[in-house]
Amino acid sequence: MTSPVWHPFTQHGLNEPIPLVERAEGAALYTADGRRVVDAISSWWVTTHGHAHPRIMAAITDQAARMDQIIFAGWTHQPAEDLARGLTAIMPPELTRVFYSDSGSTSVEVALKMALGYWANRGEARHRILVTQHSYHGDTIGAMSVGERGVFNQPYGPLLFDVGTLPFPAAGAEQATLDALEAACREAPAAFIVEPLLLGAGGMLIYPPRVLAEMAAICARHDVLFIADEVMTGWGRTGTLLACEQAGVVPDLLCLSKGLTGGSLPLAVTMAREAIYDAHLSQDRARMFFHSSSYTANPIACAAANANLAIWRDEPVLERIAALAERQAARLSALKGVRNPRQIGTVTAMEIADDQGRYLSDRGPRLLAFFRDRDLLLRPLGNTVYVMPPYCIDDADLDRIYSAIAEACAIQA
Ligand code: PLP
Repeated sequence: MTSPVWHPFTQHGLNEPIPLVERAEGAALYTADGRRVVDAISSWWVTTHGHAHPRIMAAITDQAARMDQIIFAGWTHQPAEDLARGLTAIMPPELTRVFYSDSGSTSVEVALKMALGYWANRGEARHRILVTQHSYHGDTIGAMSVGERGVFNQPYGPLLFDVGTLPFPAAGAEQATLDALEAACREAPAAFIVEPLLLGAGGMLIYPPRVLAEMAAICARHDVLFIADEVMTGWGRTGTLLACEQAGVVPDLLCLSKGLTGGSLPLAVTMAREAIYDAHLSQDRARMFFHSSSYTANPIACAAANANLAIWRDEPVLERIAALAERQAARLSALKGVRNPRQIGTVTAMEIADDQGRYLSDRGPRLLAFFRDRDLLLRPLGNTVYVMPPYCIDDADLDRIYSAIAEACAIQA
């Protein structure tokens, strides 16, 4: 009998193999059939310090022995208190409040709801959200609504709300995006949400800090809330703890997940400026922030995140990231025949061949199989191949990744 498991983003009708992974350590996955697979995409961009980091594993084990889960509405626990204090200490000081949820998507839902709640509690009917073309913020209904419309979400179109979409600030066309943002901000929208410096699932598209800084300045000028979705870019991916740092930008709302627990357990936060918290503060229960989920601030996940903060505090993580960026750059510049090679921090991306079909083209799955046959976990977006490894990856594994990409390119796999 075939497995009853229904996998995410998987067309089971194509009967593509689904390897059984038994163990993960460092930058590698170990399969039941004895293969060591290099995790070149940090298992969907979550694993920062490497799989099974001993400090994170120890924190999880220790917390699990103490307390598994408690309700978080009206009750609290030390791991969540410590984590909130730890986050407010290392994130921009203007972000004074920490709201917990479980995934990148829910951190975005929370940010959107906080933005609308902020305006509602101030007596202003502002509902419109502005977004950039090619953005991706998750797969729940609100998160999909603010993401690129396309094959991913077409069947659910009637559930999605309308947004104002700005063109992506492609090289040479940045001013058009800024002008469109300025014009849209004059209509008094509620908020603008953006992935800072790097749009991930939309194709690993990079834009400069100057544009991000301008975007934030326009929003501030027009009193439009600026939401930074750093679910992917946070925790050092782009070379700094937050991508926003490179533009000197402090958002009104900040979404973090993935690397928050070093990629070990599901957890997310939405951090907010005091003014947004204040707008919900009242003697009137009708003005509270109406959001929760059963596992809000799960203690074991919070303990894992506290261990992640300890690693950032005690280990030379930024130096490791800078070194990885250089090692990636050397290999990317030596690659022949790829189109549009690009890099930001620890992430490189490039196109193989000139496919227009993007996500539904056969190229993505073909490349995925090509890399899987070489014991590499790479998951191209159409013909866009990207490398986003854990920070602990060694040179031999990086070499294997880049020689496989060179081979794929040479034969136009
Ligand atoms: N936002 C961004 C920028 C992402 O890249 C992702 C996931 O890839 C999400 C939100 C959604 O996160 P999750 O898959 O944890 O719901």
